Amino acid sequence: MTDVTEEWVAGLPKVELHVHVEGAILPETLLRLARRNGVALPANSLEELRAWYAFTDFPHFAEIYQTFSKAIVTVDDIHDMAWDFLKEQARQNILHTEATFTAFTHYTNHGIPFADQMAAIRAAADKAREAYGVSLGLIIDIAREYVTMDDARTMARWVADAHGDGLVFALGLAGYEPDHPPELFTDVFAMSREAGVPAIVHAGETGPAAFVRTAIEQLGAQRIGHGVTAISDPSTLAVIRERGVTLEVCPSSNVCLKVTPSMEQHPFRLLDQQGVAVTINSDDPPMFSTDLNGEYLKVARTFGYSRADLKAFAIRAAGASLLPSARKTELADRIAAYA
Ligand SMILES: [Zn+2]
Repeated sequence: MTDVTEEWVAGLPKVELHVHVEGAILPETLLRLARRNGVALPANSLEELRAWYAFTDFPHFAEIYQTFSKAIVTVDDIHDMAWDFLKEQARQNILHTEATFTAFTHYTNHGIPFADQMAAIRAAADKAREAYGVSLGLIIDIAREYVTMDDARTMARWVADAHGDGLVFALGLAGYEPDHPPELFTDVFAMSREAGVPAIVHAGETGPAAFVRTAIEQLGAQRIGHGVTAISDPSTLAVIRERGVTLEVCPSSNVCLKVTPSMEQHPFRLLDQQGVAVTINSDDPPMFSTDLNGEYLKVARTFGYSRADLKAFAIRAAGASLLPSARKTELADRIAAYA
């Protein structure tokens, strides 16, 4: 039994480290953008669109992702998407979000320059800070199965040039892992590391524990997106602990994408018991019929975590963020002060 209730979770100040701006588009936002741009979607009503979101496996999911990326045509679309996203984060009392954003897709699909994309998101982020007091940092990701090495180097340069601007926080690596091990990107991440850019890498979701290890040892990842398959390998768990790496765990995502058969069989608690720094995240919330509050609640109910435990996970997320230490402390204090 847990003392955690829906109302309590809703009021808990939170920090989210793993959520995709594009993957968090609400179906209603997507329909609005597609209609205003005359872009055909595989579904025309909200109900049909919701049904279409119900994917079957990871490759199908990636296909959905690519399809709806096409509905984002202009910088105004990027601004509106970011604004809707931040309103939704604020509604959930998420004080700070480090969100993954796939800038290269909007560049290749519609030729929107990276700087223009960042300006649009910055305008939305400034407005959200003013209106709700919430902050945003971006992890610009390389979608590993869709890019050439030249593309990946281009992205690393974008991020290296923008890093330190208060919006672009890190270089990421995302996508379907099989046939795309992290070591393929060693040179790219070495380049960004030289420029002082942190690396945040999806690994150990659709790939084996060994990918988590190479993401840490060869790409210098300080946080791992998912990392749940590491549970099968004690030596990888040891590397995660020794390097102080945080896992951005997304439980509903893992169940929906069949990374784990059910919430009950999810390794979240086992990883926690092994001394791994796990955090709770939502990944692509509307696609998985969830949000961050929903994930906190599910984790508490499934594994019997208490209010004190959830506060500790939220404080850990603040600590593992890429914010300056004064802001980390401020966030941790606000979370700790919650009743
Ligand atoms: Zn992700």
